[in-house]
Amino acid sequence: MNKKDYSEYFVKPSLKEAVKRTKTTTEIVKDEYKLDEKYLLGKDKTYFIRTFGCQANLRDEETIAGILELMGYTKSEDITKSDIILLNTCAVRENAEERVFGEVGHLKAIRQINPDVIFGVCGCMVQQESIVEEILKRAPHIDLIFGTHNINRLPELIYQTYMSKERVVEVFSKEGEVYENLPVKRNDSLKAWVNIMYGCDKFCTYCIVPYTRGKERSRLLADIIEEVKCLKEQGYKEVTLLGQNVNAYGKDLKLGYDFATLLEECAKTGIERIRFTTSHPWNFTDRMVDVIAKYDNIMNHIHLPIQSGSDEILRKMARRYTYAEYKELYNKLRDTLPNCSITTDIIVGFPNETEEQFQKTLDAVNELEYDSAFTFIYSPREGTPAAKMVDNVPMEVKKERFNRLVEAVTRSAKKRNEAYVGKVLKVLVEGPSKKNEDVLSGYSEENKLVNFKGSKDLVGKIVNVKITLAKSWTLEGEAIE
Ligand code: SF4
Repeated sequence: MNKKDYSEYFVKPSLKEAVKRTKTTTEIVKDEYKLDEKYLLGKDKTYFIRTFGCQANLRDEETIAGILELMGYTKSEDITKSDIILLNTCAVRENAEERVFGEVGHLKAIRQINPDVIFGVCGCMVQQESIVEEILKRAPHIDLIFGTHNINRLPELIYQTYMSKERVVEVFSKEGEVYENLPVKRNDSLKAWVNIMYGCDKFCTYCIVPYTRGKERSRLLADIIEEVKCLKEQGYKEVTLLGQNVNAYGKDLKLGYDFATLLEECAKTGIERIRFTTSHPWNFTDRMVDVIAKYDNIMNHIHLPIQSGSDEILRKMARRYTYAEYKELYNKLRDTLPNCSITTDIIVGFPNETEEQFQKTLDAVNELEYDSAFTFIYSPREGTPAAKMVDNVPMEVKKERFNRLVEAVTRSAKKRNEAYVGKVLKVLVEGPSKKNEDVLSGYSEENKLVNFKGSKDLVGKIVNVKITLAKSWTLEGEAIE
């Protein structure tokens, strides 16, 4: 291979390109995903993927695994005995990046055991120029880097890695298309992730996702419903409809349907359980609330990120709502869906957050009494507007606020859970609990983790469990007829 050919496989990301939004409609690619014989490189070889971050990444792992299996690779549980090892990374927080760099370092020792192994890094982290530069500089043992828009090209990229003996880097920074028909190897046989849309156009000032995942682009409703029907036929009990902001579903297609339509059509398939995540409070329509209330197979749980209780901070975050508007929606959900649990995301220590502004977040948590919350200390993401803000809040102050917030969230979660004692919840039994083999574990319709004693025959079934004890993050109970 000459230098010119190789340069085609050395495409680095550009945040400047990634921020562009020029396409008005979404391009859906429906070609059959067929492999040329030269790509069947995986005979008698194994792969290992380690995924960091959110559900979108877990779902990407399933596509990557599907492609590798089509190439002939089989999954390995032992990283040291794998022929191709991929780190599927997350860029949302700094600590996730640090963990990935730790893992990248650890990989080196595996090459001593297996000199022919291919090491790859993919996912959101490598959509950033600075990270790719850092990997190129700090980790010469990494053979392959590919981005979130390049997954469909994996067979060619692996082929080039074997053939060129050069490092292959291909990270497109583009608005993106929707690829149907990519293979998938699902990690679970009861619960399935279903992508309904990709990317995000909200550009909250702290968030890297619109740069790493591209434009908001929806799959066609008919394709999603077909996938849900297929999953039902295969025996799946639960689907989770995935998108960075599912409420924006359909807007880019301009076909006259929206997320409420999709949710209703999914419910009509009769699959036993439907969940969705994540909902930005901005686009949460009354029709969505009505559809959730109307169908028993749409689960009683809504994840509704608030991020802050302070209007000034919300404005600086470009979240497009005030606390009063958020609270109005929250109360509407609680009134219309009285059995619904509501969880949230909160960021502490946004640049220049004052004690008073933080107090408003604490007040919000105490007032709204969430079922649970993911809480984070703000971490600047290079290339985002917030990363350019001068921050005068010391880390010790942020940590102290974070601890106060966690206390408030734990209190409210415990209080919410206590209200379930004596009630009967429907639990989809996933298997033995991680801590105790004799105890079964699964999630209720409200997304509560429930542990109870019962026969292993119940695994995979939806069981009525009477709640006997509430802890902050789990419930305990006993199965009833
Ligand atoms: S809605 Fe905001 S926080 Fe969520 S993915 Fe989009 S930009 Fe990020």
